[in-house]
Amino acid sequence: MSHNNISIFVPHKGCPNDCSFCNQRTISGQAVSATPEDVARAVNTAIEYGVDPKNTEIAFFGGSFTAIEREYMCSLLTAAKCFLDTHGFAGIRVSTRPDCIDKEVLEILKNYGVTAVELGAQSMDDEVLSANRRGHTADDVRKASKLIKEHDFELGLQMMTGLYKSDFQKDRYTAEEIIKLKPDTVRIYPTVVLKNTHLGYLQEIGEYKAPNAEESAPFCAELLQLFQQNDIKVIKLGLHSSETVESDMVGGAYHPAFRELCEGHIYLQKILKKLENKNKNYEYTVFVSKKALSKAKGQQKRNEKALKNQGFHCIIKGKENLEEFQIEVTESI
Ligand code: SF4
Repeated sequence: MSHNNISIFVPHKGCPNDCSFCNQRTISGQAVSATPEDVARAVNTAIEYGVDPKNTEIAFFGGSFTAIEREYMCSLLTAAKCFLDTHGFAGIRVSTRPDCIDKEVLEILKNYGVTAVELGAQSMDDEVLSANRRGHTADDVRKASKLIKEHDFELGLQMMTGLYKSDFQKDRYTAEEIIKLKPDTVRIYPTVVLKNTHLGYLQEIGEYKAPNAEESAPFCAELLQLFQQNDIKVIKLGLHSSETVESDMVGGAYHPAFRELCEGHIYLQKILKKLENKNKNYEYTVFVSKKALSKAKGQQKRNEKALKNQGFHCIIKGKENLEEFQIEVTESI
C-alpha cells in the first residue's frame, strides 16, 4: 500500500538562524506562512481527490517547526489533529532543528497526535556545521535523536552532501554516524546553491563550488545502498522539484529526477559486476524487474550506451518476479 503525505510548508517562521544554504521562501515556493485554514483546505482537497486517510500523514515542512511561536504552532497542530480524530489520518510529521527539541515540546507534540519528528542534521562534522552557520553541533543531533526515540516518535534524519568545507569522505562519515542513531527514515539532499544565500555568495567569490548532479549521483547512490543495507528507509533523495528552485538555483546538484539518476547508477554498477570476466564477443540479454526497466536502462538510455562503450553488446529487458536491483544475464553468440 502506498504511503502519502499532505505537505504543508511553514517557511522560515520563527527561525533565528541563517544557514549557508537556506532561502526558505525559495525552497518552499511560497512567501507566506500557512494558516490553520490552509491546513484544513489542503487536507480537504486531498480528501476530495480520494486520498486514503489510513495511509496518509499530514506533514509540516520547511522551517523549524518546534521553534515557531508556540501559539501559532499549536493552532496548526489543532487544525491537523482534527482530521486525525474525524477521518482517521495516519499521523502528523514535523520537521525541525536538533537544538529545538526538548522533553516539554515533545510532550506537546505527542498530545496533538504527532507521530514522526524529522531533524535537519545536515552534517555530523562540527567544522562543516559551523562553516555552514547551522548554529548546532553533531552532539545536539545525537541528544535530540535519543529524546525523540525515548518518546516513541518515528525518527527521521536529514543530511546534506557537498556542503561548504565538506567532501565525500566527511559526508560518508555523516551517513555512518546517522546510522548509529538508528533513524526510521532518512532524507539525503545534495546541496543546491540558491540565489541570495551565503553559499551563493561563496560561490560568486570563488571560495566554494558544490558538486553538480552528475558528480553527486554516484556518491549518493553509495549512500542510498549504505542506508538500505542498514534497514533504514531513504524517503527522499534530492531536493523536491519546483519551478522556484529551478529559477533560483545558481549551482550544485539539482536534477528533477535525482533519485532515478542514482538508482540508474546502481543498476549500471550491478550489471557491470554481472558481466565481469564475460566474453565481449558474445551478446547478452540483461533481465531486470519490469518495474525498474527504465531505471536500469538509465536516463536517455545512458546505461545501455555506457555498456556499449565498455565493449558489451547488451539488451536490457524487463522480467516478472525479479526484485529491485536483482539482475539475470543470459548470453548468445
Ligand atoms: S534552521 Fe532551517 S529554516 Fe532556519 S535558516 Fe536554517 S535551514 Fe533555514
